[in-house]
Amino acid sequence: MKKFIYTAFLSIALLVAVVFLKALSFTSIQIEPEPMPRLHLDTQQAAINLSRAIRIKTISSRDSATFEPAGFKAFHLFLEKTFPQAHRHLRKEVIGGYSLLYTWKGSEDHLKPILLMAHMDVVPVAPGSEGGWSYPPFAGQIAEHFIWGRGSLDDKGSLLAIMEAVETLLADGFQPRRTFYLAFGHDEEVGGFEGAAKIAALLGERNVRVGWILDEGGFISMGILPGVSRPVALIGIAEKGYLTLALSVKQEGGHSSMPPPQSAIGILSSAIHHLERNPFPAKLDGATMQLFEFVGPEMPFGMKLIFANTWLFSPLIKKQFKEISSINALIRTTLAPTIIRAGNKENVLPQLATAKVNFRLYPGDSIDYVIDHVKRSIDDSRVQIKAANDDFNEASSISEVNSEGFKLLERSVRQVFTDTIVAPFLLVAGTDTKHYTGICDDIFRFYPMRLTSKDLSRIHGTNERIGNDNYGEIIKFYIQMIRNSN
Ligand SMILES: [Zn+2]
Repeated sequence: MKKFIYTAFLSIALLVAVVFLKALSFTSIQIEPEPMPRLHLDTQQAAINLSRAIRIKTISSRDSATFEPAGFKAFHLFLEKTFPQAHRHLRKEVIGGYSLLYTWKGSEDHLKPILLMAHMDVVPVAPGSEGGWSYPPFAGQIAEHFIWGRGSLDDKGSLLAIMEAVETLLADGFQPRRTFYLAFGHDEEVGGFEGAAKIAALLGERNVRVGWILDEGGFISMGILPGVSRPVALIGIAEKGYLTLALSVKQEGGHSSMPPPQSAIGILSSAIHHLERNPFPAKLDGATMQLFEFVGPEMPFGMKLIFANTWLFSPLIKKQFKEISSINALIRTTLAPTIIRAGNKENVLPQLATAKVNFRLYPGDSIDYVIDHVKRSIDDSRVQIKAANDDFNEASSISEVNSEGFKLLERSVRQVFTDTIVAPFLLVAGTDTKHYTGICDDIFRFYPMRLTSKDLSRIHGTNERIGNDNYGEIIKFYIQMIRNSN
């Protein structure tokens, strides 16, 4: 017995020692680049330019009957007028009707080009929400140290900031050694099939291989990550896949006074209940694991101890993360029933009940695997399951953090946003970059807007706005990034 207690005590002591040693050697991997050279920038004029861009309504639509091309044409003209230097030096092509591809030719052909992406289209304002806006969504009001309006965050801010950077650099006599492509889609919010897809196809036909791509997606988290007080620049190195399944149940119908034991509505509800009761397995690997490798060392000691020892605490971490929706989405394939329909009269049994369930696929979980999981969870042959439409894609591959692209972004972020920690992460939403996988391996998703957790709902929501100062920082970031790549 004594020997047993002694062995147990020794094992525990050894375990504690290992855990502490791991935590002590879990040290910061943030780089310390040289300071950014001084730069003069007219941020006031830049804010005015963005405000003007917001006033031009460029709402994308998949339905050609409701699509209004006038706004897009006006936007092209606006760019031409606002950025004369860029239009003099860069080659402009209009693709897919309204998307734009600019080529800024580098002086050295052997260097791989870089592709900077953004999109000019915006989502409409949800009917009924207009009254909730502090300033009208398409007024581009500059007030209270913010530029307000639809597109300020997603994604005209990014597009305009890239153009401001190019214009500033050209005025400064800058000549790139590498070629830069600027690709601005006009239908990102509805899938990018006419814009990004066609630009990517065209570049592919021209045998262009891009060194790396930067698009929207990541941002600067202001206190969103638990346990990290400093801002974190989240650079998307992967993005989740996308799939919507349509579930349907057909029944005889008839009078509601003589119902069967289970109605179409009951069967469908039960199917959805089973789905939600069987979440996809949580995983702590890939891009999410890398996020904590970068961020973990910056945490207070208690949390550092846990993230330095994921081999031991992984179940605990997964359990905690499950409770926070934004973090839960980083560790598993998620599912969300978004539409349900059945019945049209209170005393008639519906013959058909349908639902749509939207899935965001964790890298490694294939579409086939997800469908299989859904079928097994529901386990009811009365429920028909099929893809709701042809808008689906597998999760992306994971871009390399040791690549030239990531290192360059990391350095540029740390030079401009000196208070931030840089970290890779898994983007839980989708971007136009999915169309470019054929011409590039290293794709990064990052637009350095500073967002608190409350700000997240402004994207596609009410009171979308970007801080004046933040917008200035963003332009500086693009300038510095282009300089660093030279
Ligand atoms: Zn966007």
